[in-house]
Amino acid sequence: MRLTIIYDNESRNEKLKADWGFSCLIESDGINLLFDTGTSGALLMEHMKVIGIDPQSIDEVFISHIHFDHAGGLATFLNANGNVTVYAPSPVRGIRPAREVVYINEPMWLNEHFYTTGLLGSEELSPDFQNMMGLMEQSLAIQTEKGLVVVAGCSHPGVGNILDAVKTVGTPYALIGGLHGFDDFDVLKDLSVICPTHCTQHIAEIESLYPGEFVRGGVGEILEI
Ligand SMILES: [Zn+2]
Ligand SMILES: [Zn+2]
Repeated sequence: MRLTIIYDNESRNEKLKADWGFSCLIESDGINLLFDTGTSGALLMEHMKVIGIDPQSIDEVFISHIHFDHAGGLATFLNANGNVTVYAPSPVRGIRPAREVVYINEPMWLNEHFYTTGLLGSEELSPDFQNMMGLMEQSLAIQTEKGLVVVAGCSHPGVGNILDAVKTVGTPYALIGGLHGFDDFDVLKDLSVICPTHCTQHIAEIESLYPGEFVRGGVGEILEI
């Protein structure tokens, strides 16, 4: 599978702008899935053009949670290509003009190789508060020969909870995405690839603890696993 970061807080490519938000393209087994859509639809579309991603080539869109920096570009993207299935957190309503919208609550296989954790929350906060603040989040796991590649938006439910949820269906091999304020670094010890990006506050600590596994994120970066 191949993962291309389209939108991120960091960039090391002068043609691609750093902006608060996250989006990546996941290509696996003939399916092209857009994971989150960044903050600005215009910037998302511009980056796709620069990187060479045809919006029409995307089959599915996965929205991790409803924060603006993950769902902000969705309407613009759907105007460019509405012929997609959208996997959206259940509190979202009225997504148009997508061909199909699947509202996610429970963990499930989206197809043979893509698994959603379902909407997860944190044990430390009340469910009502998490719903109100849009903190309920689904993460994606992609089955590969090496193990599961886990992609997270902001990891609001906690990295440990997310990895525990995917362990019910396989062994996590890689973790990519926003890890927010996560600092329970031992949880990462069995992973072979760690790409903490977007809102991750402790990137430097993760890099120094896991130099062999660490992969730097940033818009335009490509991971092949
Ligand atoms: Zn975020
Ligand atoms: Zn968030």
